[in-house]
Amino acid sequence: MHEDADVSMKYVFGPLSSKRLGQSLGVDLLPPKSCTWNCVYCQLGKTKKFATERQEFFPREEILGEIREALAINKGIDWITFVGSGETMLYKGIGWLIAEVKKLTTTPVAVITNGSLLFMPEVREELLQADAVLPSLNAGSEALHRQIGRPAEGLTYRQHLEGLVAFRKEYKGRLWIEVMLLGGINDSAEALRELAAVLKEINPDMVHLVLPTRPAPEQEVHLPSQERIERAIEILSEVTTVVNPLKGNMDLRSAPDLLEAVTAIVYRHPVQQRELQKAIADTFSGESDKASEVMQKMLATGRFKLVEHGGEAYWVMVEPSGLSSEPPLQER
Ligand code: SF4
Repeated sequence: MHEDADVSMKYVFGPLSSKRLGQSLGVDLLPPKSCTWNCVYCQLGKTKKFATERQEFFPREEILGEIREALAINKGIDWITFVGSGETMLYKGIGWLIAEVKKLTTTPVAVITNGSLLFMPEVREELLQADAVLPSLNAGSEALHRQIGRPAEGLTYRQHLEGLVAFRKEYKGRLWIEVMLLGGINDSAEALRELAAVLKEINPDMVHLVLPTRPAPEQEVHLPSQERIERAIEILSEVTTVVNPLKGNMDLRSAPDLLEAVTAIVYRHPVQQRELQKAIADTFSGESDKASEVMQKMLATGRFKLVEHGGEAYWVMVEPSGLSSEPPLQER
């Protein structure tokens, strides 16, 4: 049994359970929301002001200190994952942090990024020591890229692609490209064939197909039909291995304080009520009555509220908790 990272930590959160990365200790390097894109599906809401200048937003030593502390109290971590409240690679000095983390532990390091800055040689250089890099690529054409990612002025699709291709040539670790499949936007056979052609050029180790299962505050996005998801897997599998869209896989059994663990997760992204109910019931050996009782008490704290999206109920924060004063982090 491990202890959860102290929820009062400023940069480190989790560990969170994810199908792709197992027990993952998250590290957020950015003030929310700092991003080069303004994706239609973003769970953080609209990018009010684009950020394109790389900066050391917070002192690197302070971040490293928290990681060191979290590693001392958490055992059984599968990955340390850098994932920001926006575009992770905007943090200048992430390469130094990865190198220092590697001196502390043999636990592999993953970086989740939208990949928009990979055209810069210094950004690629900073990522070379990561064990896995998960950049986004949602389109096979400039027009669709603009429609979905709505990038900051001056950031082109060509640059994005060239960055990914160049990085693949230099990077020896695992390159797992994340494709968000959006119903009615990039799930047509034509869009997927264009995307497959581009993926062939990049040559990633894998594609992680993900779905907009969580509410996007700014614009309504739709889940693709089952048939379209299957077709997407079929088309993209012609060029690389495709990981099926995520299913709920939350594990709260080792959390020392359920309320704080749920707060830390919901703070970072909306959570499907069904998934939460199951995860809480699992902590009581499957007793769903006990889980309902605990969830009622959690709702009574006033920290959470229920919203509906695509016929599913989700838990979201009423207002930011003690973690920070700004909106939540998401795992893209
Ligand atoms: S989904 Fe990620 S890349 Fe897109 S706007 Fe949100 S934080 Fe930025």
